[in-house]
Amino acid sequence: MTDWLKAGNNAVITGGASGIGLASARHYLSVGMNVLIADLDADALQRAAVELKDIGEGALHTQTCDVSDIDQLRALQETASKLGNVHCLMNNAGAALPPNAPWENIEAWKKQLDVNLWGIIHGCHAFVPSMLDAGEPAAVINTGSKQGITNPPGGYAYNLSKAGVKAYTESLAHAFREIEDCPLRAHLMVPGFTYTGMIARFIPDKPLGAWTSEQAVEFMIASLQRGDFYILCPDNDTPRELDEKRIQWNTDDLIKNRPALSRWDASFADDYEAYIRD
Ligand code: NAD
Repeated sequence: MTDWLKAGNNAVITGGASGIGLASARHYLSVGMNVLIADLDADALQRAAVELKDIGEGALHTQTCDVSDIDQLRALQETASKLGNVHCLMNNAGAALPPNAPWENIEAWKKQLDVNLWGIIHGCHAFVPSMLDAGEPAAVINTGSKQGITNPPGGYAYNLSKAGVKAYTESLAHAFREIEDCPLRAHLMVPGFTYTGMIARFIPDKPLGAWTSEQAVEFMIASLQRGDFYILCPDNDTPRELDEKRIQWNTDDLIKNRPALSRWDASFADDYEAYIRD
């Protein structure tokens, strides 16, 4: 399932200068892969290059790139093609913009979708055709979020972007399966609460409940080795059983004709608490 995860092969990681992307780069380098990390933040890329420079036998390359711009992804693909075939594409770049009411601040809504959803679609459009042509075992790993599955109120635009990533990546996995002998696999990475740059901006010290990026990547690699499509990471506060119950409750809103997001409706609070306890 992870034939591609080996020395000499090439990985491209967007949002690779920080957090989960950076920890992934460290892992791929440690097994001898060559890694191209792309990020919007040029300073963070420079820091990452210093941090990763002595890891493994593979080469590290960096490139600034805004994933919301398809031309910048095409330029990234051009750089990658000079290094050889791409065996792992991690469309991981993401941002959490301040929450907005569903009817306010259209620009912030567009920006959120441009980065988190279109960034992933751009990555696939720029890289997948040449990965298919190469015909070598390879993985496309797109980063979603539990917020794109259970839709908790607050970060409305973020939730929408990640729900789109889930739907898009499920379609990608199916489309690969439909191609005879296709050596490409798609995976949906769903981090739990992970202490990364995105979180550190709001919370200066790592909360006990959060995982580190390294823990999330360790879980991701074990899931990839099992061939899992859904990489549903737990964290120190959220075991898998709790995630399963939350996802089931959310799905049951539709099936049982409850109000939308009844988990956060006061009139369902007792039912929800009892359901989680049982
Ligand atoms: P992070 O902030 O440490 O890393 C994200 C990286 O993406 C940063 O280096 C940032 O500069 C880069 N980036 C942002 N906008 C970009 C753009 N337009 N083009 C290119 N790069 C851009 O945060 P992280 O938690 O490691 O985030 C990685 C992914 O994990 C994101 O997609 C995020 O939504 C997702 N995620 C994180 C958590 C969590 O708890 N940390 C939970 C669920 C999902």
